[in-house]
Amino acid sequence: MSKKGILTVVSGFSGAGKGTLMKALLEKYDYALSISATTRAPREGEQHGREYYFLSKEAFESMIEKNELIEYAQYVENYYGTPKSYVEQQLSSGKNVILEIEIQGALNVKKMFPDALLIFVTPPTAMELKERLVKRGTEDMETINKRLKRAAEESAYMKEYDYIAINADLDTCVEDMNATICKAAHMLEAGQKFTDSKDNTSLITRIQEELKAL
Ligand code: 5GP
Repeated sequence: MSKKGILTVVSGFSGAGKGTLMKALLEKYDYALSISATTRAPREGEQHGREYYFLSKEAFESMIEKNELIEYAQYVENYYGTPKSYVEQQLSSGKNVILEIEIQGALNVKKMFPDALLIFVTPPTAMELKERLVKRGTEDMETINKRLKRAAEESAYMKEYDYIAINADLDTCVEDMNATICKAAHMLEAGQKFTDSKDNTSLITRIQEELKAL
């Protein structure tokens, strides 16, 4: 019987440095990254088929109708979804697949793929999140505030994740994520469920309070 890969879902607040983190992780380690479809407009430097498949609302809705998405969600007025075929092909060929998606989608994936590993990436503090969003300069202040409000709502779901990765230092966080995925993959092969040995309750409570106070 051939070995199936593990499906890892990475979520985190917008501005948590996920993009840079995923890029560094994929440059160093051999994972298959699923490219999502979205109705959001491309940011400067983004390419169709590389960062996302940039689709019209009609084309996206047609994928929903044809059941071509594993999951999809609406996030700050746009659709985002995970095409099914690539993920299924890669997993059955034994590759470890990563999805970088928001929380609603992640929880839906977990329902469909109970063996999936859910990782949540957070900056060490909420203030740092705001600073990163402002520094990135790709969104206006109104959108940044919407994303911060969304982050405060999302923080309620951090406890549903299997692992919380703190992105204070890029290289450390990349190693931490890779080690966690490898551990979960080995446990899955042995028929065991990954559980984090750390108790994250106080970390989650602190981040939630900081986000509310922003
Ligand atoms: P951004 O517009 O900053 O690229 O992404 C906004 C949010 O959409 C991020 O939290 C990102 O993880 C999420 N996202 C990207 N692709 C997908 C997807 O296929 N499904 C879901 N549910 N969320 C996604």
